[in-house]
Amino acid sequence: MMWLTGTNPISLLSQFTGGGQTTQVDTNYQATAEEEQLAEFTSVVLADTEDVWNSLMDGYREPGLVLFTGGVESACGNASSATGPFYCPGDEKVYIDLSFFQDMGRKLGAHGDFAQAYVIAHEVGHHVQRLDGTLDRVQSKRGKLPEAEFNRLMVMLELQADFYAGVWAHHTQKINNSLEPGDLDEALNAASSVGDDRLQKQATGRIVPDSFTHGTSEQRSRWFKLGFDTGDVTLGDTFNARRL
Ligand SMILES: [Zn+2]
Repeated sequence: MMWLTGTNPISLLSQFTGGGQTTQVDTNYQATAEEEQLAEFTSVVLADTEDVWNSLMDGYREPGLVLFTGGVESACGNASSATGPFYCPGDEKVYIDLSFFQDMGRKLGAHGDFAQAYVIAHEVGHHVQRLDGTLDRVQSKRGKLPEAEFNRLMVMLELQADFYAGVWAHHTQKINNSLEPGDLDEALNAASSVGDDRLQKQATGRIVPDSFTHGTSEQRSRWFKLGFDTGDVTLGDTFNARRL
């Protein structure tokens, strides 16, 4: 991971210049104090996920981190701030859009640093799925299943990443005792504020369950909580769960 080598995370902030095939890292980019704080925080949380996942998973290798504002290019294509944070299996990097963190509080009502930690841990959850083959297994079904069925697999994938975020929170609490009162609620609130039903209703005023690809608010916070309460990775098999 880059910041461990002494690179200032803020120097990784890139701005999409449009049209070009290479990512421009704009070293003249003037980060705001808030962005610098978010970048620092992101690095600390990512390092913490590495400690936890190294202890839980044989052969764990760390994901890369790209912080950006505006837009960015990845092995998975171009992304803008509208995409939000994401994980790209092609280059095994976690892409964190710092403006999304600012929006989380302002637009989604998900406040607090632990809400941001949950988002990072969720993306790292996708990296875990990449390493154990789950991500490839689901992706290989794309276009081969009816859309509603594939969407259901995507929901299982997303809820498992929420579960893994909870597993991380469980272990970081055990190791560092770092959770403050209210932190768990911040994460649960964040998980539920990015539920498909909530986002869809906000965007369109109605809810279409078949098109869900992330799970409902209730499902997202419930799977996170199961991970947090147990810390047991074996309990996160959303693909064979009796109740999703
Ligand atoms: Zn996800």
